[in-house]
Amino acid sequence: MSRPQKERSVFRPPLFTSFKPVGFRRLKLEQLSLNLDEFEAIRLADYLNMEHSEAAEEMGISRSTFTRLIEKARKKFSEFIIEGKELFIEGGNIHFRGNVIRCQDCGHMFNIKIEQQFNECPSCGSQHLVDLAGGFGHGKCCRGFHNRNRG
Ligand SMILES: [Zn+2]
Ligand SMILES: [Zn+2]
Repeated sequence: MSRPQKERSVFRPPLFTSFKPVGFRRLKLEQLSLNLDEFEAIRLADYLNMEHSEAAEEMGISRSTFTRLIEKARKKFSEFIIEGKELFIEGGNIHFRGNVIRCQDCGHMFNIKIEQQFNECPSCGSQHLVDLAGGFGHGKCCRGFHNRNRG
């Protein structure tokens, strides 16, 4: 039996969650999932050029776990661009520290704290809002996770 995986902390939900090569019929494409913890590893180490030890701390995991995670993520990325798969960002044993809300009417996106809830777009007043963390099935669980891990 394997040990239960430690939950990983992710800054906020990704703004884009699916990608595919141009010019192919959807039917022919194999699907590939990049988990949210793998996405976060790429964001920290490759996009923000963070040291592995620092990135590991940010996610609440050990440095060696982080190194395995980033290797797995890069491997998937290489498959995506070389084999031309359809990529989805989903899953992973994570919780978010922050959230993003997108207005369906004006397109405005705004960062909020995970414990906040908005009913109205601060830019246009619309109530047609998309909760990005909620789209991944997160929200309440993240608030609980961060209360448990605080102090
Ligand atoms: Zn709006
Ligand atoms: Zn959560």
